[in-house]
Amino acid sequence: MRLSFLSTGTEAGVPVYGCDCPACSRARFDRSARRRPGGCLQVEAGPARLLVGGCPGLPGERRVPDGRLDAILLPDWRPGRLSGLHALRWGVGAPIPLFGPAPPADLDLVREPGLLRPLTLEPLQPLRLGPIGILALPLTGSPEYGYALEHGESRIVWLPGAPRLAGPALQALSRWVPDLLITGADWEEGVPAAADGGPWSRLSALRVALGARRTLITHVSHQLDRWRMGRMDGIPADVEFVRDGQRESSEALDLTPVAGVERENAV
Ligand SMILES: [Zn+2]
Repeated sequence: MRLSFLSTGTEAGVPVYGCDCPACSRARFDRSARRRPGGCLQVEAGPARLLVGGCPGLPGERRVPDGRLDAILLPDWRPGRLSGLHALRWGVGAPIPLFGPAPPADLDLVREPGLLRPLTLEPLQPLRLGPIGILALPLTGSPEYGYALEHGESRIVWLPGAPRLAGPALQALSRWVPDLLITGADWEEGVPAAADGGPWSRLSALRVALGARRTLITHVSHQLDRWRMGRMDGIPADVEFVRDGQRESSEALDLTPVAGVERENAV
């Protein structure tokens, strides 16, 4: 699978309008430090192309990259995830399915879907889109979904907002070792105080439970970027923060099975 991180910020993005904190000030002159709103990930495998996390965007701003799109996987139906998709309704060609939890009936996209097809995906119900196997993952304390994606020997787990997975999801993935754990860092505490407490501990516990080989952090707020600036300690060594435009290829990863863990199709 080929991954492109199209946006890696929270819904506010970085820089945040009106904010003069060091992270936002830096992002105003350093384009590489900017984060577009929302966590939108493009996944390609063979001829298939998906967007995971919706497509946040400002009105009139083009967010969906050119080319055919086979499906969009949504953790929820919040307007912020859909704002970049509205122009697609007037597109031409094959309909584009939008998968996620049951969409609200009063949603603009449900009333007037145009080319888009809002569809309900049941949690842990396997779905196949071309060569990509998909499993919607229920999260603890949230109606949102995460997603497990599989193509050949490549496997990723993508989680919105924060590293949390409901028990049934962990059970379904108990023998399914992801190469990449990609998770939001929308910590409820705002900014983590220390590496050995709170959100980092939960992230580390989840990474160990899944057996993920790499952990990538996306959906980063300006507070978290500010906290990271100049910091040499407090960030676990096995955690990587992604940037807008970053590309990854799971084919290039070391796919040697983790010792003592059986690899078996769960998707
Ligand atoms: Zn700021």
